[in-house]
Amino acid sequence: MPELPEVETTRLGLWPQLEGRRITAVTLRRPDLRWPIPDEVRTLAGQGVLDLRRRAKYLLLDVATGSALLHLGMSGSLRVLPGDTPPGRHDHVDIGLDSGLVLRFRDPRRFGCLLWQPLGETHALLRELGPEPLSPAFEAGCLFQRSRGRTASVKTFLMDQATVVGVGNIYAAESLFRAGIAPGLPAGKVSRARYARLVRAVKEILAKAISSGGTTLKDFIQPDGLPGYFKQELFVYGREGDPCLVCGTLLSGNRLGNRATVWCGHCQK
Ligand SMILES: [Zn+2]
Repeated sequence: MPELPEVETTRLGLWPQLEGRRITAVTLRRPDLRWPIPDEVRTLAGQGVLDLRRRAKYLLLDVATGSALLHLGMSGSLRVLPGDTPPGRHDHVDIGLDSGLVLRFRDPRRFGCLLWQPLGETHALLRELGPEPLSPAFEAGCLFQRSRGRTASVKTFLMDQATVVGVGNIYAAESLFRAGIAPGLPAGKVSRARYARLVRAVKEILAKAISSGGTTLKDFIQPDGLPGYFKQELFVYGREGDPCLVCGTLLSGNRLGNRATVWCGHCQK
């Protein structure tokens, strides 16, 4: 599943092909992805591209009248291709550009979405989102306050999009390892100093992943057509039963909030 670094990498990769361009046509090869595609999306045609922004794992393609709101879901990808490239079976949406290129949305499993946000409004999907992890608004004091009295595990708390956006299972597991915090600890029992370490870990790991072009995820395709391979050093994610890379203890595994969770019982308390 594309996580925040992959979405940000997509944004960075697409922008040079979109900047200053006019949209010439919108081709919808099916009426829906995860949800129906609203008719307003067709009004992109004829408008100039003003910006391509990211909020959490959503991309917003801005034109004068509003924004097309895109989510890659489980298996979606966006690429810019020559306009005469024949569409494949899972290429559901084309946004034609006056450069002769086409922005193509491919989504085999159709958990992605293409929606519309009118100018001056915030789409319902974006309203309840917490701060961006790489922004100053994501900091220890806020996390500490918000977590008081919470009995949910600190990992579940960290993955809650109302706490902070874009920290998926991989990054939650790796950040908690780096911060030395056991993932099953109740969020309300974690000290402020430990939240400071956790915030630092989240920011460092996400920034590193973005700068490296995203983690190795089978369904992700970089905008230039190359797989998004990034040999991220994963300390715990996917390594249950393997020795800890720091201390050699065999890593523990469990499910928390119905998500596979791996940690080191020695390094994480
Ligand atoms: Zn260890």
